[in-house]
Amino acid sequence: MRARLVAGNWKMHGSLAANARLLDALKAGLERAEGLGYAVCAPFPFLPQVSEALSGSRIAWGAQNVSEHDSGPYTGEVSGAMLKEFGCRFAIVGHSERRGLYGEDDSRVAAKFIAAQRAGLEPILCVGEALAQRERGETENVVARQLDAVLDVAGVAALANAVLAYEPVWAIGTGRNATPQQAQDVHAFIRKRIGASDRALAGNLTILYGGSVKANNAPELFAMPDVDGGLIGGASLVAEDFIAICAAAQR
Ligand code: PEP
Repeated sequence: MRARLVAGNWKMHGSLAANARLLDALKAGLERAEGLGYAVCAPFPFLPQVSEALSGSRIAWGAQNVSEHDSGPYTGEVSGAMLKEFGCRFAIVGHSERRGLYGEDDSRVAAKFIAAQRAGLEPILCVGEALAQRERGETENVVARQLDAVLDVAGVAALANAVLAYEPVWAIGTGRNATPQQAQDVHAFIRKRIGASDRALAGNLTILYGGSVKANNAPELFAMPDVDGGLIGGASLVAEDFIAICAAAQR
């Protein structure tokens, strides 16, 4: 059975006090479940707090971005090695907000993916199409291009130490989620495409769905055979909601 994961993406939210309440509630409320992992991806300055609060718990943590460089004159950037010092397991790369708002193109995302792994982090690689691309029937082309950009430089074997997240851009933070079938179709496409190079690896690859996952739609999304959990934005900030979403990912 491949690993399932529910990861929260806090985005640029939180404060020391609010995080402490949220982390306490998650530690108390998330139950150990066979084959299911939990994680929160926090803003950089909160990583020491998160690491202290969660160490020894069943919840892993990560960052929402990582530099493609290991060190040097890159003002404002944070390297994978720095994240590793704070016990991060994951780093999100290629989130559509980074691609769209900060101009991260496919080759930069690929470089970040490689840099994260070089530092011993597991990248959570986000792919997904914009609404106009879906309406033009380009979803598979877009996702294939985003995926291939990473596979071309990292090689398919690198996916053994990574998580994929299908996040249709039109569903992120909009309250409009993909239907379970829409999610399943793209997840199956991703698995098949990777499977063409390495069938066993594709079968074991954790592919998350992200985009307006809430407690009420998580059960039907997570019931799809190729959906292995979720990357959760807004709902990850409310303990009760995140806990209910995690419960929906139990098998
Ligand atoms: C995200 O930020 O990755 C995300 C999926 O956000 P939301 O759940 O708020 O749509």
